[in-house]
Order: sequence, then structure tokens, then C-alpha cells
Amino acid sequence: MKARGGIYEVLKHTEDLVLEHKLLREGEGYERLGDPDIRKFFSAYTIQVGSTGNLGLSIGIISAVLGYRVIVHMSADAKQWKKDLLRSYGVDVREYQGDYGEAVKRGRALSDADENSYFVDDENSKNLFLGYSVAGKRLQKQLEEMKIVIDEEHPLFVYIPCGVGGAPGGISFGLKQIFKDQVHCFFVEPVQAPCMLLGLATGLNNEICVQDIGLTGKTQADGLAVGRPSAFVGGIMKKMLSGEMTVEDYRLSEYLKDLMETEKIFLEPSACAGFQGPVCISNDVEAKKYLETNGLKNKMKNAVHIVWATGGSLVPEKIRGMYL
Ligand SMILES: *Cc1c(COP(=O)(O)O)cnc(C)c1O
Repeated sequence: MKARGGIYEVLKHTEDLVLEHKLLREGEGYERLGDPDIRKFFSAYTIQVGSTGNLGLSIGIISAVLGYRVIVHMSADAKQWKKDLLRSYGVDVREYQGDYGEAVKRGRALSDADENSYFVDDENSKNLFLGYSVAGKRLQKQLEEMKIVIDEEHPLFVYIPCGVGGAPGGISFGLKQIFKDQVHCFFVEPVQAPCMLLGLATGLNNEICVQDIGLTGKTQADGLAVGRPSAFVGGIMKKMLSGEMTVEDYRLSEYLKDLMETEKIFLEPSACAGFQGPVCISNDVEAKKYLETNGLKNKMKNAVHIVWATGGSLVPEKIRGMYL
């Protein structure tokens, strides 16, 4: 999930730096970025990010590989193995007792105080969002290759796990550019951390958090353990999103196990949230209303459903066994 957006943003920033400092001449290949003189140049610059784990992995690994100094500010939800993996790349991992919002705040403040530091701002970054949105084109190509047609009579339903909103927002934005009204995007959030749902349903956007309504914000789906949504993404999703579902943690464990047993695919808990989508769309009263209002009822037999299930390929073998 985070690789596409995170790596894009760091490469984009790198390109800006390289052009500004005239490190590459017109027409020179980007392989040159690995040369010792350019790596030495990058080592004077810092990249920082606040994360529940996966964005830190994405930003941290690509930045370290390019030669930057990297500081990842991890919230209390971040799994130990993710911190260990980052440290093995030489990344400075700082841990906080608080939730994701606090890690971002501390990281942003530290970065702002250093003019050679660049902060990847998960709550506001347009570059990160655009990096995620490329998923739309990738999916279009995959569907074409599989000869799956999306049109007026064959609607596309996509169910995407949501934390702060950037990744599912960017993906939905990308899909909407291509499939327009023929794609119906739904976000899925943990019952205890439905921050985007709360922001959209109340209209308060990032001025309300899940703790305000007595929820804990705690979930095994570490990538979705976010209490307050991105205001930037909320504003865009208001017009684009078809709906939201929530899912209980015990169901994530069941989906994780079932997927392994039936398809031999390992996913981490966060990446299993999307499976709740098809369950809700075919059973829930609110979903039925949505299908009726949008003239979809008679088209459902031709509908294509996609569960966005990306996350878990970096999980170590030992931890996989634990999850299973
Ligand atoms: C972070 C994450 C998400 C949600 O992305 P946000 O930008 O936080 O909304 C979904 N799935 C996985 C596996 C993630 O790591």
C-alpha cells in the first residue's frame, strides 16, 4: 500500500533537489544518483516521517538506500519488527507513547526546525496522494490483460482499507479519473478507529477524532490505527466516496487465516479489512439503498468486485506464523 506513494514522493523530492543543485546534466541517466559524490550530497539532507509502521518502512527504506539521513517517528501502535527492519537500514527510529497524530506532530516540528530536512506529511502531501493515485492506471492495465470489461452495464466496486485516508483516497482519485461513475469506491475502517467515516458523516472532517465519541482508536490493524482523518483527503472524498464500512478485529484474523488456507496468500491484518466490503454490500440495508438509488440493483450480477489487499509482503516468517 505505502510503497507506491512513499517511494514516489521521495524520488520526486530527490529529483527536485538534484535539479536545483544541478547534480545531473540534461539527458544524464538517473542511475547516476547511486554514484558516491551524489550519495555524499544526499547524506547532508534528512527525510522525516510520522507513521504507524508501513509509511515509515516505505519512506525509510527508499531514503536510506538513496543515502539520506532518515528519521522515522513511530506511534505506539507500530510493530516491533517494523522498527527492527528500519534500524537494520540505519534509519533513526524514534518511538512515542502516543498515537499516530502525536508522532506526526513531533516529526513535523523537528523537521521544520531544520532547513535541510524534508517532512513527508501524510496528512497533507499532494505528492504522496498523487503517487498512490497511479494505482488507477495499474489496475486498468491489469483488468485489460484479464479481459475484464468495466462499463455502464458492468460496474466496478472497490473496497479499500483506510487509515488517515491518503492511500485509499489517492487510489480512489486515480480510479475515478479512469472509470468515472462506473467505479464505486468504499473505504473500510476498524470499528474502534473509523476516523474518515466519522469526519465525513459528521461533516467535521479533521475537527473530530474517534476518542471524542468514546472509541479507543486501538486495533490489531496497525496501519489503520488512526484517530483523526486527513482534512485534505476528506475534502476530496466528500464528493467521490460511495460509502464506508467498518470491521471488527476478530474478523480480520478470520479473513487472514481463510485467505492463507484457500489462496495461499499472506496478508497482514490491515490489508484484510477490504474483505468486509463484499460482505456488507450484499447484506446491509444501507448498501441496498445505495444500489437502488444509483440504479445498480439489476446490474449487480455483472458487477466486478475488487478487495484492495496490499500489505504484508515484508512481514518476517516468524511473525506470519504468529498471525496465523
Ligand atoms: C496505511 C495502510 C492503509 C491505509 O492508508 P492511509 O493512507 O493511512 O489511509 C491501508 N492498508 C495498509 C496495509 C496500510 O499500511
